Amino acid sequence: MKNILVIYTGGTIGMVKDKITGALHPFDMKKIYEALPVLKELDCNIDTLQIDPIIDSSDMNSEVWIRLAKLIKEKYESYDGFVVLHGTDTMSYTASALSFLLENLSKPVVITGSQLPLGMIRTDGRENIISAIEIAANDSVAIPEVCIFFENKLFRGNRTTKFNAEHFEAFYSGNYPSLAKVGINIGYKKHLLREPSTLPLRIYDKMCEQVIIVKVHPALKREHLEAFLAVDNLKGVILETYGSGNAPTADWFIGAIKKAIDKGIIVLNVTQCKAGSVVMGHYEASRELLNIGVVSGGDITTEAALTKLMFVLANYDDKETIRKMLSSDLRGEITEKSIC
Ligand code: ASP
Repeated sequence: MKNILVIYTGGTIGMVKDKITGALHPFDMKKIYEALPVLKELDCNIDTLQIDPIIDSSDMNSEVWIRLAKLIKEKYESYDGFVVLHGTDTMSYTASALSFLLENLSKPVVITGSQLPLGMIRTDGRENIISAIEIAANDSVAIPEVCIFFENKLFRGNRTTKFNAEHFEAFYSGNYPSLAKVGINIGYKKHLLREPSTLPLRIYDKMCEQVIIVKVHPALKREHLEAFLAVDNLKGVILETYGSGNAPTADWFIGAIKKAIDKGIIVLNVTQCKAGSVVMGHYEASRELLNIGVVSGGDITTEAALTKLMFVLANYDDKETIRKMLSSDLRGEITEKSIC
């Protein structure tokens, strides 16, 4: 029998109704079998843990990501797979961050949550937890990845984005197909999965927080951009541009970005679109960005770009290495041919 560790971090999924008052409150993970007795019938041993304190995922940060990575490392030899219960709001950031912090994975780390609390009759949490555990415990396909399971689909975590605040189908992976679909059977798409590593799991315990996301928009003014880029000790900027990587061509805009790059700040270009890729130089409106040294994020999501930048800046010093890593596929987060 497979051994699965379920780690509860907080979020809607863990909310149950108080029998007396009817109010929703976070449940005690030790009582997961009370909340979900059907788990006893799954063909695996399940142990549970919860982080302390449990948090709404709006409070997620790199300190918790590092704690989760350390926890998985500490328990790695004792379990065949890990399921992380997490709020949906920052789930894609956490999935992306863990994909970078956990190197040489050979076991599944499946993150799930729900749009409706477990304590509600129509909850999507019940199916999500059961299927996530079944996937983590499956013995037909190796899933050496940090994934998100949500509403019948298994995704590569660092390719996802939360795109719907209301529907059960809340996650989207615009540039990489789902890794499995759950219907009557679980249909794995083996050819899309990463290869299990034969090397020992390595974790990283540093992430740089001196990073910002600047979204270009038609009302962006010189003083706004200059104020963002003047932040003390800034190390990296995700520039969320239009379409295939286009940004204003005005001198003040290019000048401000160039000044930041000349100061040693890394600027990574990602598209605001939910699918497709940055192709710098494709239009006049991105050629100058290429010339001044902006790095292309290719088809990476903003969530993966931010956490990758945090990871790379904290763990590598040499600027050329950092730029090269940002343009390389580290954990399946970009399609390398999309980089130009
Ligand atoms: N605010 C909640 C969270 O992300 C929402 C959810 O779980 O869906 O923690």
